[in-house]
Amino acid sequence: MSRFLAKKYRTLDAYVPGEQPRDKRYIKLNTNEFPYPPAPDVIAAVNADVLSDLRLYSDPTAKALKDALASYYGVGTENVFVSNGSDESLNFAFACFFEDGVAFADLTYGFYSVFADLYGIDAKIIPLDEDFSIVPEDYLGLDRGAVIANPNAPTGKALPLSEIERIVASNPEHVIVVDEAYVDFGGESAIPLTKKYDNLLVCATYSKSRGMAGARLGYAIGNAELITDLELMKYSTNPYNLDSLALRMGAAALTDSSKAYYAEKVSEVIKVREETSEKLAALGATVLPSKANFIFVKIPDISGGEAYKKLRDRGILVRHFSKERISDYLRISIGTASDMEALVNALAEIIKE
Ligand code: PMP
Repeated sequence: MSRFLAKKYRTLDAYVPGEQPRDKRYIKLNTNEFPYPPAPDVIAAVNADVLSDLRLYSDPTAKALKDALASYYGVGTENVFVSNGSDESLNFAFACFFEDGVAFADLTYGFYSVFADLYGIDAKIIPLDEDFSIVPEDYLGLDRGAVIANPNAPTGKALPLSEIERIVASNPEHVIVVDEAYVDFGGESAIPLTKKYDNLLVCATYSKSRGMAGARLGYAIGNAELITDLELMKYSTNPYNLDSLALRMGAAALTDSSKAYYAEKVSEVIKVREETSEKLAALGATVLPSKANFIFVKIPDISGGEAYKKLRDRGILVRHFSKERISDYLRISIGTASDMEALVNALAEIIKE
């Protein structure tokens, strides 16, 4: 840190992303990426013509992409905000809506506490219950906004839509942000509820179920006035927040042929998740029921840190959090069937040792 850094940032504890190693090829199950490439239409969308157009700024209104998302979800274009990853939508939502404070779970996406610190927002941390579930009653009638990852990370557990609605309805004076990064793997989306509630903002991403983490494409859907607020933040920081390639690829991922491609690949991930969960349970592991593209697993008789290291030595990367309560767990992204076979075999060996 330089001696010039503003005092207010000196204690900031930045988000630590999972490793993206370049040294050797790992079976990479640590950052919840999709194990398949983007749909063929997405790949075809990046051609020489589009590349020549890079001399021009990208469309700051992102109209074509917003229109495509609007028709995909059956909402109006004015209900859609697009962002550089969903992290940027979340960032702007924290900046805009949590003046009275924000509530979120003790075990959830690590960026929420970073954004709260960054903006000096008072954070009420609500513990998950013994089973690592969100207790909806804890979020009723809050004196502040809230952000709920549904399905939650790193647990993979999901709340039914009726519970999300109960929370949104009981907090009419505050914004409830529902982070649906993982919803396509078995959760229920709250997007239809954005027509009924002006205090609901749903954030989502192309990073997980559309295999486009590297394109940095996210979006938020909500009441038009909430979207205008997010636009205010965008135009006050980075009007061209999405590059022209990402804008093209984003729309190409929503064609009928892309939808069919992703539907098939997502079902494969779900199938492999269920099979892997069963195999790990048979080895004596505790596996939380997941609606996401990862599982949260406790390996018997070995600490999470040790299991992480032993897997890494065998060329398999998973995510370990040293946080109390979950330090004995591993968050394991669902890869291809053969990735997961290698994982199960490695864990079987580690358990035997
Ligand atoms: N929300 C949750 C719950 C996540 O796990 C992630 C991925 N780290 C994100 C949002 C952000 O994803 P992205 O910025 O790639 O859209």
